[in-house]
Amino acid sequence: DIEFAIKVVIVGNGGVGKSSMIQRYCKGIFTKDYKKTIGVDFLERQIEIDGEDVRIMLWDTAGQEEFDAITKAYYRGAQACVLTFSTTDRASFEAIREWKRKVENECQEIPTVIVQNKIDLIDQAVVTADEVETLAQQLNCRLIRTSVKEDVNVASVFRYLATKCHQL
Ligand code: GDP
Ligand code: MG
Repeated sequence: DIEFAIKVVIVGNGGVGKSSMIQRYCKGIFTKDYKKTIGVDFLERQIEIDGEDVRIMLWDTAGQEEFDAITKAYYRGAQACVLTFSTTDRASFEAIREWKRKVENECQEIPTVIVQNKIDLIDQAVVTADEVETLAQQLNCRLIRTSVKEDVNVASVFRYLATKCHQL
């Protein structure tokens, strides 16, 4: 029996790995050129938190982020948020504050995590560990470094958010 379900929105610039993260977490797969399946708005996965079954529904943006055209429907009812940037994309890091602001406009305060993805490409990093940690502190968000490619820390992101929501 599902005790409760949470809707999680995953935002960040195009190319940071949002769709890949959803595929990885819900289907256990990683492809180099994942193209969104037309008609699929979200995927879900069921996990257990404190002995209760929780359904985690992950919403994908289908590339609209590039046109700044994410609709209110995307954010509606979101209970948790993942702010994502890429280790190898400076602009995606600098856009995190703006993404947080957009989510807050639609959802007030919800449990939020900052994800630094593509940590497998740390050799090509264009952000320092220090500045990432400082931003996370300033925005008062947990920071989690992931590699969707190598399946590092992806499950922790959603376990953390589900646990936070469960405690509310
Ligand atoms: P989105 O635009 O944010 O949805 O990003 P995508 O999921 O489409 O990913 C963009 C590109 O980054 C794709 O080629 C992915 O295979 C690649 N990618 C995603 N996550 C990782 C990662 O952790 N490491 C590496 N090296 N590549 C990744
Ligand atoms: Mg995508």
